[in-house]
Amino acid sequence: MGRLLDQYGEEMLPGRTERLERLAAPLAGLRLLHVNSTKVGGGVAEMLQRLMPLFEDLGLRPRWEIVEGTPAFFDVTKSFHNALQGKNLVLTAAMRETYLAVARANAARLDLSADAVVIHDPQPAPFVEKREGPAPWIWRCHIDLSRPDREFWEFLRSFVVRYDAAIFSLPQFARRMAIPQFLVWPSIDPLSDKNLPMAPEEVEATLRRLGVPADRPIVLQVSRFDRFKDPVGVVKAFRLVRRRTDAVLVLAGGGADDDPEGAAVLAEVRSAAEGDPDIHVLLLPPTAHREINALQRAATVVVQKSTREGFGLTVTEAMWKGKPVVGGLTGGIATQIVHGLNGFLVSSVEGAAFRIQTLLENPDLARQMGEEGREHVRRNFLITRSVRDYLVLLTWLKERRR
Ligand code: UDP
Repeated sequence: MGRLLDQYGEEMLPGRTERLERLAAPLAGLRLLHVNSTKVGGGVAEMLQRLMPLFEDLGLRPRWEIVEGTPAFFDVTKSFHNALQGKNLVLTAAMRETYLAVARANAARLDLSADAVVIHDPQPAPFVEKREGPAPWIWRCHIDLSRPDREFWEFLRSFVVRYDAAIFSLPQFARRMAIPQFLVWPSIDPLSDKNLPMAPEEVEATLRRLGVPADRPIVLQVSRFDRFKDPVGVVKAFRLVRRRTDAVLVLAGGGADDDPEGAAVLAEVRSAAEGDPDIHVLLLPPTAHREINALQRAATVVVQKSTREGFGLTVTEAMWKGKPVVGGLTGGIATQIVHGLNGFLVSSVEGAAFRIQTLLENPDLARQMGEEGREHVRRNFLITRSVRDYLVLLTWLKERRR
């Protein structure tokens, strides 16, 4: 097998491989350490998995480490995640203790030696206490930070300001801090199992295996079972749509190792969907990339009705597959969906129902929006662009140190 990098054609890598190589050449051999809190489940793990081999192809020496936490730790960090996305949090001494004890134990356990360190999200943020030597440390935040709980942000900020730089997914997530802050949009890998082209036979066989009818329009939301993704709102919208239009709803999702709330939300969804044979709630393992690929390709309309969203890679994935997307007017969804061009932005159950119905009833509009979506992703949200952004930032940090 040749390099992964060489498998991106001109369509997926506008600006050619050579440009990336020129940018990477002065960084050859750079030991680049990434730390996050899960290898599977959720967008961060998804992206890191695909970025590692590309950095390697470009001559860097990337390494990816994971925070090993206890259930109590992940309960606490999930509440931190919710607080950063705007939910009130009473930060108790016990929570701080659990958080710091596990984070510090991990920082002591792991080899943090590197030429540049990228720490993802709050779970490993305190690792910065252990920084040694001149290597730059970057805090990469994937969360919607536009309206965080103030008290919690003050606490977390005390760690973040010790980094050399912070990266956010959207401009409105930047905070008042003395360190430089950068914008890096997330991205998808068109060559991953989740996004590779797929034969119609495989799509059909997958639907059959999952018990989803292939001969009716499919409305799909793929998401962890998380309240901010509003799966219950999707069920309500679908019930309104179905009064007038034939369709089935598929809610596909699984848990993530660092998300303990999933089971409770799944139960709420099941109870909201009870008694309706046209609502398919699919609990998928974290390895179900081809299944998600098939579902996204089979869908007529893809929904991502989140009320908060760091970015929303599921929107990107659906657009890349030429699907029109109805998404919550929030965070990264509003960056990806150009309202009326490649999808619709909505802020209520009724709004979602209206737009889903419009797309179900107008196949030409749906197709045209899907084409626009794919082009938008091609230009802005493919992994090759993220790699470039990282290389530019690493170059900047290196020069600054000199
Ligand atoms: N995903 C998955 N299985 C699931 C739910 C989601 O593989 O059961 C994937 C999804 O296809 C996407 C990522 O996880 O690639 C979710 O990223 P997003 O930014 O939409 O949301 P996050 O989970 O990071 O909040």
